[in-house]
Amino acid sequence: MINTDILIIGAGPTGLFTVFEAGLLGMKCHIIDSLGKPGGQCSEIYPKKPIYDIPAHPEILAGDLINNLLKQIKPFNPTYSLGQTAEKLEKVDDGFIVTTNKGIVIKGKVLAIAGGLGNFEPRKPSIDNILKFEDKGLQYKIIEKKIFKGKKVVISGGGDSALDWTIELSKIAKKVTLIHRRNQFRGAVDSANQIQKLKDEGVIDVITPATLLKINGDDHVKNVELNHNESKLKIDTDFIIPLYGLVPKMDVFKEWGLNIDKNAIVVNNSKDYSTNIKGIYAIGDINTYPGKLKLILSGFHEAAVMCHSAYSLINPEKKNTLKYTTISGVKGFDGSVKKAKKIEINSIR
Ligand SMILES: Cc1cc2nc3c(=O)[nH]c(=O)nc-3n(C[C@H](O)[C@H](O)[C@H](O)COP(=O)(O)OP(=O)(O)OC[C@H]3O[C@@H](n4cnc5c(N)ncnc54)[C@H](O)[C@@H]3O)c2cc1C
Repeated sequence: MINTDILIIGAGPTGLFTVFEAGLLGMKCHIIDSLGKPGGQCSEIYPKKPIYDIPAHPEILAGDLINNLLKQIKPFNPTYSLGQTAEKLEKVDDGFIVTTNKGIVIKGKVLAIAGGLGNFEPRKPSIDNILKFEDKGLQYKIIEKKIFKGKKVVISGGGDSALDWTIELSKIAKKVTLIHRRNQFRGAVDSANQIQKLKDEGVIDVITPATLLKINGDDHVKNVELNHNESKLKIDTDFIIPLYGLVPKMDVFKEWGLNIDKNAIVVNNSKDYSTNIKGIYAIGDINTYPGKLKLILSGFHEAAVMCHSAYSLINPEKKNTLKYTTISGVKGFDGSVKKAKKIEINSIR
């Protein structure tokens, strides 16, 4: 069993920043996310889009914001269970035990639900024999890209994920074929240009407009059948990866006895973003309260407030005072220390 101070569900911007705020107060964090990489909506839906309302960043790509957050929290050595959904919750005397869909058991003294829009589930193609091939060559997400080394891969989709993974896997796979039902891609222009270049150089195949009709094989994918310009095509492949986006689901949190209002967890915003269960907080897009703004900056603020409350709950005997990082510095759990050598502060009149 993994033990931690704050068990965070959701590695979106809110969950990641929670690690930093907790780290400043000396608390360790473990993060569970059903996606294969950190970043939540920023990484999964719009990594190449610029965001204009992050304070002090006039413009920053969503993917870069996540990379910066990962860099910022690195000294606090968070541990991760990625590609795993938090499914079961058990209340114990000194905290909460969460079990993931892959059977990993994690105990946290408090629970911070930063689950955004809920657990993202892949949108699946509507073809008959789909269940037979799941995890047998049919994948909806990529957790370990090394399994594609030297293999034939068909990627289906036209958004950022499909384009990004086609580019990435073309570096290691034997052959990548990208299929899309339209002739134009929805993903970033830069990625679409890279796809065109790889196609022109003969590195990848691109087939448009094409829709997936059938997957064939015995105990593993052998080939896929496509509808292409009113004719049928068969492509031999080891993997088929449909990347049609994700559908958010809130079912898990409803079962845990939390107060839910219109697909969001009700919290006490006049205090600390705590839920109706003592020791469980909900922060970021997942929560609701009067005046809630579903913005990244709201999640950052809520993470800071929540961590101070969690500290007092975990350490009732200790006094918690707010310290500026300009004065206290940042002392990472990895031994690193960042602190201004000489502090010059203009006097306030
Ligand atoms: C196209 C687009 C553009 C946007 N532009 C802006 C903008 O310009 N400015 C701005 O401030 N905001 C913007 N937003 C909103 C912003 O992305 C969200 O406010 C932000 O991502 C919320 O962060 P979060 O960490 O709370 O949740 P999320 O980013 O949604 O992350 C939640 C994570 O929790 C995980 N999760 C949920 N349930 C479980 C479970 N049971 N087990 C394991 N993992 C789970 C999910 O997989 C997900 O990774 C935009 C959103 C979109 C879609």
